[in-house]
Amino acid sequence: MKKQIFRSILIAATSVFLASLVLIMGVLYDYFSSVQMKGLETETYIAASAVEKNGKEYLESIKTGDYRITWIANDGTVLFDNKANETEMENHLEREEITEALKTGKGKSTRYSDTLMSRQLYCAQKLSDGSLLRLSSTHLSPWALILNMLQPIIIIIGIAIALAVFLAYRLSQRIIKPLNQLDLEAPNMEEAYEELSPLLNRIAAQKKQLKTQKKELKRKKEEFDAATENMNEGIILLGENGNVLSINRAASRILNISSYSIGKDLLIFNNTFEIQELLRVAQNGEHAEKTITVNNKNYQFNASPIISDKKVSGVALIIFDITEKEKAETARREFTANVSHELKTPLQNISGCAELITNGMVKPEDIKDFSAKILAESKRLITLIEDIIKLSHLDENQKPCDFEKTDLYELAKLTHRNLIAVAESQNIDFLLLGESAVINGIPMLLSEIMYNLCENAIKYNRKGGYVKMQITNGTDNAVLSVSDNGIGIPPEEQERIFERFYRIDKSRSDKVSGTGLGLSIVKHAAIIHGAEIEVISKIDKGTEFRITFKK
Ligand code: ADP
Repeated sequence: MKKQIFRSILIAATSVFLASLVLIMGVLYDYFSSVQMKGLETETYIAASAVEKNGKEYLESIKTGDYRITWIANDGTVLFDNKANETEMENHLEREEITEALKTGKGKSTRYSDTLMSRQLYCAQKLSDGSLLRLSSTHLSPWALILNMLQPIIIIIGIAIALAVFLAYRLSQRIIKPLNQLDLEAPNMEEAYEELSPLLNRIAAQKKQLKTQKKELKRKKEEFDAATENMNEGIILLGENGNVLSINRAASRILNISSYSIGKDLLIFNNTFEIQELLRVAQNGEHAEKTITVNNKNYQFNASPIISDKKVSGVALIIFDITEKEKAETARREFTANVSHELKTPLQNISGCAELITNGMVKPEDIKDFSAKILAESKRLITLIEDIIKLSHLDENQKPCDFEKTDLYELAKLTHRNLIAVAESQNIDFLLLGESAVINGIPMLLSEIMYNLCENAIKYNRKGGYVKMQITNGTDNAVLSVSDNGIGIPPEEQERIFERFYRIDKSRSDKVSGTGLGLSIVKHAAIIHGAEIEVISKIDKGTEFRITFKK
């Protein structure tokens, strides 16, 4: 813009200067022509007077190169000429100025010479004897005049152009200055050019509109971020070229991508074949799904094309963690198989005994033993089914309304009362220690925990051993500890004892009855209470189960 203004001013200034020059030259040329003609007339008059007095002698004495002096007789014969040989000169009677002077006493005329690029001014005066004196001078044409004055004209044009450049520069600077100083954030209408006010008003209106739109977009983005940020599912929005537009925390964690990934190609961070393939299908406008293992976890990747104007403008990638789901499915499958297996053994025993009795293959004196076996197996079956029912109840998550203020020590007293006879029958010392500790819990499940732990401590003990149940009341938590000095649990088994139907070394467990579900129930009940379980055990020294409840 600055350049354009500068150029325009320069062209205008130079054109004005040249036009003025031509105009002045034209006007002055005519003025000087008339002045010169007047001068020639005066000089012709003076010369004519001198010739009247002194005749040819005077003419011969004059030494002037500027004028041509011709003396002509009244018949047109040239008597004298200071620039040519008068004898060779033709008759001058026909010349315009001579004809006029013969008639009126004075005559003048102008003739143009193309070759000399000049005009000849002629002035004639009639003398008293009838002869005529003619003076002639050269008057240059405008072009010749310009050529003669070329040097000063070039100097003047040079100065004028320099001046025009300087002025144009200053002027363009001054015009541009208010534009450069314009604060588009808060334009001062009074300082700005009046012509700019419609533009400034429009800019202000658009700025306002942009601000509102920006605010709206920001609000929507914040809403979207807030909704997706805390989701467990990973969400990645990709642009047309696979560049990351948005990525939530879960997706960053799963794919181990930093937040600096925005704007970059997703494949820079993860270019596994599966993801490449997923994106390729989605970018071709089709939905694609794949289960991909990342860091030993199974994720389901769903890639859907984002279509706008019938064109794929991006891809939405949603990642679900299906590790737990798959684990749960495997556990359920195993559980069903285990349940069938565990139920089958006692049922087979019962049916075997019953068949023998029915076929009369059992001696009458043995019928009592067979009946006792049927009773024991039936009891085992009932316990097993009861435990399965308990577990399936625990699987259906407990509602918060089932929780109530519960004193662990009061519940421990009940458990102690229920199991003291069993302990005594096996010559085991069963102690209850501690103090009252109130927590928010489900009494039935807490009793289940205590019962299973104490029953195990009695079962997996030795004659003359002890079982100690203790309740400790802390400021932030309450601890239930059940310890014994029984057979202990091998370190490598301590993790697995909480699995459903898991029993350590069938040979040692078979001596004592059990379903392998007791500690699963304990673990589940503890999880529902947000409690932590700790197992401290040494083979042949004893075991301690510590359950810490948060208050
Ligand atoms: P079970 O019905 O067999 O007792 P549990 O789930 O209660 O099933 O226990 C799993 C296994 O853990 C038991 O089979 C037993 O071998 C072991 N166990 C549990 N408690 C103790 C303990 N106090 N001392 C030694 N071993 C134990």
